[in-house]
Amino acid sequence: MPYLCSARDDTKIYKIKTMTTIIDGKLISLQIQEEIAAEVKAIKVNNGKIPHLAAILVGSDGASETYVGAKVKACEKIGFKSTMVRLSESTTEKELLYIVEGLNNDADIDGYIVQLPLPKHINEHNIVQAIAPQKDVDGFHPQNIGRMALNLPTYLPATPYGIIQLFERYKIDTAGKHCVIIGRSHIVGSPMSILMARNNFPGNCTVTMCHSRTANLKEYTLKADILIVALGKPEFITAEMVKDGVVVIDVGITRVISEVTKSGYKLLGDVKYDEVAAKASFITPVPGGVGPMTIASLLMNTLKASRKEIYD
Ligand code: NAP
Repeated sequence: MPYLCSARDDTKIYKIKTMTTIIDGKLISLQIQEEIAAEVKAIKVNNGKIPHLAAILVGSDGASETYVGAKVKACEKIGFKSTMVRLSESTTEKELLYIVEGLNNDADIDGYIVQLPLPKHINEHNIVQAIAPQKDVDGFHPQNIGRMALNLPTYLPATPYGIIQLFERYKIDTAGKHCVIIGRSHIVGSPMSILMARNNFPGNCTVTMCHSRTANLKEYTLKADILIVALGKPEFITAEMVKDGVVVIDVGITRVISEVTKSGYKLLGDVKYDEVAAKASFITPVPGGVGPMTIASLLMNTLKASRKEIYD
């Protein structure tokens, strides 16, 4: 690959390539939202049913309030109907199951989410299992995860679906590549490993899944053509851990104290961005990479639910 110049810090020299594409998740997310808004307009013109998303928020966790608020706002912006169900922290599991049942039976609601995490006295697994699979637009129900594993039409979980969209829209070649995934969470790493290995585009990768018990992690990261990082450790991946031309998807978001920002904090990814970007062919920044895609994914899943694309 041709190199133009080199950048130097105290100890190392990083070659800088001419062709690093910064993957703009914010832009792609807005494009997807505009596309869905145009579809909603067409539905309205034809007097069709307006897609309707509901969200259940239990308790008043600040981060969860922000996430749910952003989802409801996005629905309003593109013309979906939205319903917010706010429940107190003391809501019992039985009461929440009753509300879930109500949403399952509400014909006007196409899909809904139960914002996680739930208060500790509620068993999340019991709640997720109670969501009707055809309304599970978060893609967390075991039936939908099973369908994903079988490569059947399903609601993909928001973050993996967002990453898949980025590969698609940037036309990043994945077939035959070695994809290394760090992190095996149920919401990111594990589903990503299934999606990147399946016989599809994006996919057809040879996948290596790494986690905290992986010995000699660097041996694997150095072999990655595509590196998907979701471990929640800021700037964990450094330049000497990756090869030239690698595609880097940084899922991590950690809030750290900063003396230079007005707010007093900044968001960092799991990748040491500047030095890794200098070697990468494609890279997602943090913020503005994977993060904005999650809302677009939820809206896409809700549109699919209202069109009954996955289940009749
Ligand atoms: P998680 O549940 O926090 O789990 C972390 C994973 O990383 C685990 O599988 C863990 O291994 C692995 N890990 C931890 N330390 C490691 C190490 N030193 N070497 C290799 N693997 C290591 O994962 P998550 O929920 O997917 O979150 C990961 C990050 O992504 C967080 O920063 C989170 O905020 C962010 N996130 C962002 C979005 C978005 O929209 N951008 C969405 C979801 C999550 P073990 O399984 O062995 O413990």
